[in-house]
Amino acid sequence: MTTMKAAVVPKLGAALEIRDLTVPEPGPGQVLVKIEASGLCHTDIHAAHGDWPVKPSPPFIPGHEGVGVIQAAGPGATLHQPGDRVAIAWLGSACGHCGYCVSGWETLCETQQNSGYSVDGCYAEYVLADDRYVVDVPEAVTSLDAAPLTCAGVTTFKAIKVAGLRPGETAAIVGIGGLGHLALQYARVLGARVIAVDVEDAKLDLARELGADLVVNAKTTDPVKEITSYGGADVAVVTAASARTFEQAYASLRRGGRLSCVGLPADDTITLSVFDTVLSGKHVIGSIVGTRNDLADVFALHAAGRTRVISERRELADVNACFDEVLAGRVPARLVFTF
Ligand code: NAD
Ligand code: ZN
Ligand code: ZN
Repeated sequence: MTTMKAAVVPKLGAALEIRDLTVPEPGPGQVLVKIEASGLCHTDIHAAHGDWPVKPSPPFIPGHEGVGVIQAAGPGATLHQPGDRVAIAWLGSACGHCGYCVSGWETLCETQQNSGYSVDGCYAEYVLADDRYVVDVPEAVTSLDAAPLTCAGVTTFKAIKVAGLRPGETAAIVGIGGLGHLALQYARVLGARVIAVDVEDAKLDLARELGADLVVNAKTTDPVKEITSYGGADVAVVTAASARTFEQAYASLRRGGRLSCVGLPADDTITLSVFDTVLSGKHVIGSIVGTRNDLADVFALHAAGRTRVISERRELADVNACFDEVLAGRVPARLVFTF
């Protein structure tokens, strides 16, 4: 019996504990993955705090940006072999046969399991995963880069796709954190002009370095006024975890504009004018992560040199301090636990 280190949420709202746990055995259809890099998504903080209407059940291990190498395969797990390097994303598994699953919307499957939420996740040295839902990581993508791409990347890639962003349009990216710094790059890949909004100057400096055409500090200036005077946004992708930012982003849209809702604030409710929505032909879209196929596209774009992942390495033992860093807005895009 070998043991592993894992960060466990013992109780919603409590500090995480580093525990020595038994390395699990892969069951039917499962693979055992030895984690090399595991990203810290803001969702993990919401999970540990119990911020959302649907709550996880402690004790559980968070984490859904896990990248590592398969050590063993359970009975019937034949799609991957030991030695394969794979990513474990939020979509831990889905039924594979409902209308959503067979129409390219597996992320909406009603019986899906979510890594680090409904099943144990990747803040651990070893993780069990569904052989069918892990995604191969191309050789040209390092594990350190692949981890943030596994949620932050695929989620914003998808959010921009569902918003139908077109070349020459203007995209406002609200929140330049783990998700936002990649959203900005996908908007540029599609040929849009990009406005970056955050409340931290360091994040806005990064946005400028990544090619933002305009940066707006929403703490010191009125983002609606700034964006409107720039001509308004055709698409606004909101990744900030505050309901107010969604209302501001909505108000910053041009006629025909699309609000792509991505952030999942604890203050869950926004107020929108039906009149404005109708007369201005605005669209409000919810976007949840992306499919396995979207993630393969994200990896391919990265391998082709189209994106840069900005991250810093951390030790899993420092997980609680890392949560504080993210909440204080001090993190250069993404923290990644490496093993
Ligand atoms: P993050 O903490 O790395 O980034 C959030 C950014 O928002 C930070 O840069 C912060 O400074 C900025 N911000 C805070 N208040 C702001 C304001 N008023 N205006 C503008 N910017 C502001 O977090 P992240 O990991 O990028 O995740 C962001 C959110 O997206 C979280 O709520 C997370 O749960 C959610 N999420 C959703 C999905 C999905 O599928 N929809 C997937 C992953 C994460
Ligand atoms: Zn399904
Ligand atoms: Zn995530």
